[in-house]
Amino acid sequence: MKKKIIAFLLILFPIFSLGVVKADTVKSKYVIASDSSFAPFVFQNSSNEYTGIDMDLIKAIAKDQGFEIEITNPGFDAAISAVQAGQADGIIAGMSVTDARKATFDFSDSYYTANTILGVKESSTIASYEDLKDKTVGVKNGTASQTFLTENQSKYGYKIKTFADGSSMYDSLNTGAIDAVMDDEPVLKYSISQGQKLKTPIAGTPIGETAFAVKKGTNPELIQMFNNGLANLKANGEFQKILDKYLASGATTASTSTVDETTIWGLLQNNYKQFLSGLGITLALALISFAIAIVIGIIFGMFSVSPYKSLRLISEIFVDVIRGIPLMILAAFIFWGIPNFIESITGQQSPINDFVAGTIALSLNAAAYIAEIVRGGIQAVPVGQMEASRSLGISYGKTMRKIILPQATKLMLPNFVNQFVIALKDTTIVSAIGLVELFQTGKIIIARNYQSFKMYAILAIFYLVIITLLTRLAKCLEKRIR
Ligand code: GLN
Repeated sequence: MKKKIIAFLLILFPIFSLGVVKADTVKSKYVIASDSSFAPFVFQNSSNEYTGIDMDLIKAIAKDQGFEIEITNPGFDAAISAVQAGQADGIIAGMSVTDARKATFDFSDSYYTANTILGVKESSTIASYEDLKDKTVGVKNGTASQTFLTENQSKYGYKIKTFADGSSMYDSLNTGAIDAVMDDEPVLKYSISQGQKLKTPIAGTPIGETAFAVKKGTNPELIQMFNNGLANLKANGEFQKILDKYLASGATTASTSTVDETTIWGLLQNNYKQFLSGLGITLALALISFAIAIVIGIIFGMFSVSPYKSLRLISEIFVDVIRGIPLMILAAFIFWGIPNFIESITGQQSPINDFVAGTIALSLNAAAYIAEIVRGGIQAVPVGQMEASRSLGISYGKTMRKIILPQATKLMLPNFVNQFVIALKDTTIVSAIGLVELFQTGKIIIARNYQSFKMYAILAIFYLVIITLLTRLAKCLEKRIR
């Protein structure tokens, strides 16, 4: 009897498993990119961990299918770019399956479906798309809502304001900088259920199914594993549990915090770990990039006063090119552009770490300005000194080292301090590539508690204190060197 049952099961097993294509992990770890604030799909809870339907789902699927993941939350647009540039293997961010996206992404089976919908303040009189004439509608960059708004703009005559992340968009709506926002219906409805004083006067428009995605033609096993895992979680009820956890009444919320986050003290108390880690990244970025910039800057600065025309030309080109490109574009070019270019030639995904990309961008940028400081310092020493020294038979190198540079350095020092302060402030710009330094840390926290006034005040004071301390320190050093 027992044997018969086993034989029966052995026959049944392959029949049942026929429908499911087994997939095996290829990579030891998959990097999954997501949005930074898109509750209830992904958001930070009061202990600053990312939670939400998407976060729970991808973790449950990875566990079910036995693969390792590392999640990054740079924001929707940045997550899309990260997957396209090969920085990440997949994206889960309440992402809609649209025809346009199918050209560049492979999608999993869908796990949700969403409309795009207009949100306005509770007190607003806007009741139809026609009412939006000459009004400003905010939308997140790269989203299906943005496509919808662009397509209907000429019909209704509104202005579109694009945001990099949800928190700044909702902030702007709350402060009245924009008149309406366009976002996914579950997201707007969720924020209303969380007490946001908003309403949705017009019925939503379907934008498609919500699914997980990989860059077209890459990581096929990841899609397969996602689908298999999703099917398992649906079958064993775990998927429904995840949905209920966030959507049922009395569900997990973004704002239930153990500490009152409406006061500056509460904000500091609840987020000091994040602040410290953001501060660490900011300081590391500024210090490392400035050290590199000094080396590169001095080399090009020396080139620019060299007796050789070719060296002067090289230096001039370097300074002109780097100074002529905005830092944010330089950072985006290094982080997204170059990996994309390399992949198009070699067919190999070659992502670059965001910290490394940010450091390179900041170093090059500061180096160009330092080269100019060095040139200015050297040229400020009267030419007669070089001529006199050379006529005494002393070599160019020796004259430079013994006579010109000691004087020039004194002239350059205050400018170096100045340039360092600029470099430290510039670190906020490279947060655009998703680097969670101090500024980005603040924005993420605001995405959760909407305390923009207090949070930006805290950030401003943070920078003010660090910069003041560092400039004081630099002044002391400067005195010593003199
Ligand atoms: N569902 C929308 C889209 O795919 C928005 C996604 C998001 O903002 N995370 O464009």
